[in-house]
Amino acid sequence: MRESLEFDVLFVGAGPASLAGAYRLSQLIEEHDLAVSQGKRTGRKLKETSIAVIEKGKEVNSHALSGAILDPRALEELIPDFASLGAPLDTPVVKDHIYYLTQRRKLPFPLIPPPLNNHGNYVISLGRLVGWLAQQCEQKGVNIFPGFPGVELLFEADRVTGVRSGDKGLDKNGKPRSNYEPGPDLLAKVTVLGEGPRGTLTKNLVQKCGLDAGRSPQVYSVGIKELWQLPKDRLQAGTVIHTLGYPLGQKIFGGGFLYMMSGELLDVGLVVGLEYEDPGTDPHHLFARWKQHPLVAGLLKDGKLIGYGAKAIPEGGFYSQPRMVHDGVLIIGDSASFLNSQRLKGIHLGMKSGMLAAEAIFECLLAGDFSSEKLGRYVEKYEESWAWREMYRVRNFHQGFDSGLLAGMFHGGLQMVTGGRGLRQRYNTKTGHERLRKMSETGAATVRQPTGTATDALRLDNVLTFDKATDVYHSGTAHDEDQPCHLHVRDLNICYNRCTHEFGNPCQHFCPAAVYEILGKESGQVQLQINFSNCVHCKTCDIMDPYQIIDWVPPEGGDGPNYKNM
Ligand code: SF4
Repeated sequence: MRESLEFDVLFVGAGPASLAGAYRLSQLIEEHDLAVSQGKRTGRKLKETSIAVIEKGKEVNSHALSGAILDPRALEELIPDFASLGAPLDTPVVKDHIYYLTQRRKLPFPLIPPPLNNHGNYVISLGRLVGWLAQQCEQKGVNIFPGFPGVELLFEADRVTGVRSGDKGLDKNGKPRSNYEPGPDLLAKVTVLGEGPRGTLTKNLVQKCGLDAGRSPQVYSVGIKELWQLPKDRLQAGTVIHTLGYPLGQKIFGGGFLYMMSGELLDVGLVVGLEYEDPGTDPHHLFARWKQHPLVAGLLKDGKLIGYGAKAIPEGGFYSQPRMVHDGVLIIGDSASFLNSQRLKGIHLGMKSGMLAAEAIFECLLAGDFSSEKLGRYVEKYEESWAWREMYRVRNFHQGFDSGLLAGMFHGGLQMVTGGRGLRQRYNTKTGHERLRKMSETGAATVRQPTGTATDALRLDNVLTFDKATDVYHSGTAHDEDQPCHLHVRDLNICYNRCTHEFGNPCQHFCPAAVYEILGKESGQVQLQINFSNCVHCKTCDIMDPYQIIDWVPPEGGDGPNYKNM
């Protein structure tokens, strides 16, 4: 028997956007009730309002992963005394470096472009920030439920009325085991989707309700990251290094990052645009190549790998933001494309979006009116905010790189002096998977070995560079194998009869966790094996599959990566 639980407001996904939203809403309610008690405001008290946050990870921050550098602007607004409350922002940025890399050399940028000047920002672990924000929320009475994935939006006619959370205890054939528990229906006056990039519920809502009509297609990158423990005094805490060029070259969007935290911990990562043409491109192999560059290899020498993860990044920006309000539901954070790809930052924008959603919901609670018109105050508030101005100023940034790095730098420079306009008010673009070229077009008989040529094969030494399985081990990822596979491939005939010949099954290359394996290549009887227990929930397959037949759906609650300090 499936239970139903009722809340006033339900946030889906315990990222910074949802937690900032839940905190802001409880803060507004607290201030309101105090003012009513003191006779400074009339109206009923709202302290009975129930606010819940559900999260698919085992702990509130098990799936939290980012670079990360935090612009503290939203946090300062939300919790002005964050420092005295122990916010884990212990590493102010002290130095910025940018290098253009060739295969062996590094060429320093003579000047740091203003958007990449991180003075006043902090190198942080998003996982630690999320853990701390969750504590602040709980102190305000917010209910946080880790291990509860939202698997389906519940509707009454066209209105979203809540979320069904995932069943527990189904075996691999979808049959109940002895420990079977149906996931409860979580009903709410307002559901707020802060599921991160390419959220399952958000994807379905946007498609079902046409919330992307008239918007530009969303485009993504995948960020692949390791956490390293370095020898003492290798790099000053707060040092930030960004790289362009090798191994991505001119055509693939992205670049490397090295962020030094306290405790000799170094974030080591490469962002790869999911809009490349060569279906053999393997972001994880590119990451290994990048680490072999003397700049990176020198920094990592005698260090130790202690963490790994990967995550999609919504790069599309302002024109790719879907309509963020529908009857009974709001979309915030990465799910609504709140990311400034010029500044390589989104946490502050995600938090602000959650706070603006909270302010709109507070007005609904006061009025007892949760209609979509009233919820639409969220968009009005966004349009009046610094977040809108920041997003608008970089509205064409990512699209300027559609023709490569040099064109991107040209457009980026022009956009900076034209307030984000550049050559046109709105640059056109297309989704990443549409840019993949068939092998017949690239001239390859079979797909090339990723990032290498016959004479330039990638060698992994298990000291500096690792295979995907070893990296996945360091992500702490675990899934119960006796459950339905959470990677739904809708038509295997397409995999075998078309994709093998047309694109060489790029899933085996783009997945940074070796989930997809094509067996039987020698015999010609190919078979797709899905090692779903390796999945680090990055969503790359859902995004980059050329036929769009892979649907990533949440596995059993609590499964997936177990990121620490990521
Ligand atoms: Fe990422 Fe998909 Fe691979 Fe999971 S299966 S790690 S979501 S690409």
